[in-house]
Amino acid sequence: MKDTILGFGAMRLPQTDATDPKTIDMEEFTDMVDYYMEQGFDYFDTSYAYHDEKSEKALKKALVERYPRESFRICDKIPTWLLTNEKDNDKLVNIMLERLGIEYFDVLLIHNINNVFINIAESCNSFEYLQKLKEEGKAKKIGFSYHDKADLLEEVLEKYGDIIDVVQIQLNYLDWNSQTVQSKKCHKVCAKYGVEIIVMEPIKGGTLVNVADSVKEQFQDYSDASIAEWALRFAGSQNNVSIVLSGMGSLEQMKENCETFNEFKPITRDEHRFLMKMAREIKKTLAIDCSYCGYCVKECEMGIPIPDLFNLYNGEKVYSLVSNHANYGTITATKAPASACTECGSCLDICTQQLDIPELLKDVSKLFEGI
Ligand code: SF4
Ligand code: SF4
Repeated sequence: MKDTILGFGAMRLPQTDATDPKTIDMEEFTDMVDYYMEQGFDYFDTSYAYHDEKSEKALKKALVERYPRESFRICDKIPTWLLTNEKDNDKLVNIMLERLGIEYFDVLLIHNINNVFINIAESCNSFEYLQKLKEEGKAKKIGFSYHDKADLLEEVLEKYGDIIDVVQIQLNYLDWNSQTVQSKKCHKVCAKYGVEIIVMEPIKGGTLVNVADSVKEQFQDYSDASIAEWALRFAGSQNNVSIVLSGMGSLEQMKENCETFNEFKPITRDEHRFLMKMAREIKKTLAIDCSYCGYCVKECEMGIPIPDLFNLYNGEKVYSLVSNHANYGTITATKAPASACTECGSCLDICTQQLDIPELLKDVSKLFEGI
């Protein structure tokens, strides 16, 4: 087994209907699982919430029912935002185990710890609950996924570092020195407390692949490596990182990513400097720093397809195209437009990039609706 391995993130799986996350393309997903296993990898990452709660069941069909339990590892996450009391921990975990068709988790995390959800997790004794599950053998490793600044991470690890095995953090070269995600600082805090690091968002939801042509040219001038390869190598080169998750959406992507990890080359100092320069270049072209995780969508009672609209807005800021306006019209023909935002604020706490979504939607409606 390789030291740092590619983890299969089951949050952006292939879909038969691109607009409906529930429609996982099981045929392509099963082929991807087979290819990934053939390449000698074994780590699958899911959550209660992914694909509108269909990701776990899809994994059961494509993986659990087709491979011996000891041949793969599964990480699942308790949806912190659904916890209302201590008993909910067990209720949700039992649903997760049943959906997956397994008896134990290899890794069990509290999902999306930030400055709001830490209070929910603490009031529902979720950390103590994880510890109990580990003692009972129902979770081999325990921890949390993290979406906030390094100071709070330090506070959480100061309190729970003794019982925590792993922390899943957002780590990529674009966010390495950012003021909001703080990848570098969070990485340093994890190293200080000696916890294993699982990397999520190494490609920032596709942002580090879909870069402007001027940025692509600079990558091509520097080397033949693909842009995705750069992002994965950066994440996998950091100390204490055991798994780099990639939310792969096609067999083609899967093959490319497996190749990067099969012949893994750590980033050199010169390459690190080059990537920091590229991060500055990409930031110049990025209007909204969305990672397209989609967590906000469920919170929005108006049904605004927030990441889709942010994606179009970012595209329009880089390349002003008639097709962006046409796509905006197509999307909002069946779903609420940006101007439907009531500024209720329900989406704010869950945003993994701490974006002021209602304010940004005003920019979107101004651009596409002229309001
Ligand atoms: S603030 Fe706007 S985008 Fe956010 S949940 Fe409320 S209506 Fe939806
Ligand atoms: S706005 Fe925030 S929560 Fe919504 S998709 Fe973007 S990063 Fe995720």
